[in-house]
Amino acid sequence: MKSKKGKGIFLLFFIVAVSCANAQSPIKITLLGTGAPVPSIERFGPSILVEAGGQKLLFDCGRGAAQRLWQLKIPLGQIDALFLTHLHSDHIVGIPDVWLTGWIPAVYGRRVSPFQVFGPDGTRTMMANLVEAFSWDINTRSKEKNKADSGVFVNATDIKEGFIWESKGIKVTPFTVRHSDIIDSALGYRIDYGGHSVILSGDTRYSENLIKHAKGADVVIHEVAAAQADSVRNSPLVKQILGFHTSPEDAGKVFAQIKPRLAVYSHIVLLTSDPSIPPPAISELAVRTQKTYGGPLQIGEDLLTIEIGDKVKVSRYTPTGNKGSEGIR
Ligand SMILES: [Zn+2]
Repeated sequence: MKSKKGKGIFLLFFIVAVSCANAQSPIKITLLGTGAPVPSIERFGPSILVEAGGQKLLFDCGRGAAQRLWQLKIPLGQIDALFLTHLHSDHIVGIPDVWLTGWIPAVYGRRVSPFQVFGPDGTRTMMANLVEAFSWDINTRSKEKNKADSGVFVNATDIKEGFIWESKGIKVTPFTVRHSDIIDSALGYRIDYGGHSVILSGDTRYSENLIKHAKGADVVIHEVAAAQADSVRNSPLVKQILGFHTSPEDAGKVFAQIKPRLAVYSHIVLLTSDPSIPPPAISELAVRTQKTYGGPLQIGEDLLTIEIGDKVKVSRYTPTGNKGSEGIR
């Protein structure tokens, strides 16, 4: 009798704990990598984890995505789907690691169902070529496992604006953004869940289409690029790269029109033409953004977490868990 009562109380506590967690944080976003192609140890390649409705979705898979996931003690095999913004190498070089290390039957892997990948034109072909490139590993490990194992299979789908992915209450809506004159397939994403939403810009110049799709969004996570004036003057390459991205002033104009509860920078591109000219300080991004936008802005860093619920809560990573709240809005 006594033990039954104890069990009942435990179950009630569990239900309350779960429903509170859902009520407080319908969407949890972790910036796995906030960097650019620079092989930096502080900022890994672009990759963002979105958790909602018990699912884990990855957006882009740059350098170090696997390490960051495991830093969070998330087995790589638990990623339900990967969405790609475009196929530039800095956004995709982490794919073989998450896919194949995620298939290893150790505690950090254990994928048992096919790896789901969605991305713009070329995604299917790229994934088919990766299967070919890693065929020795796939064949050898398959023989070692000596059983049918779908965890290494890949289901890749080319998508564009108009496609919608829905599962367990999460809705993922891709939209076209403008990365350069010769790239017309780059995508941004809107993720809706539980009456809340987040926008991921992908790589883009100032985009009216992004603003259109971001109506009512709680949080906008946008790329940004900057260089010192001397670097822009000295280097046609720096000028060209800046032309593929969004300046802090233009990002501010985007945020000012959407009016999110929080704007966040990730995929931070700080350029220089010459070692004698330092790239802009990270603090300059906020100063330049404030010329066109007076709302809340968070400069992203690897493993920063943003929880969207009744409040928008930002937490920095600590090795014992995400604590040390940066701010609650
Ligand atoms: Zn790019």
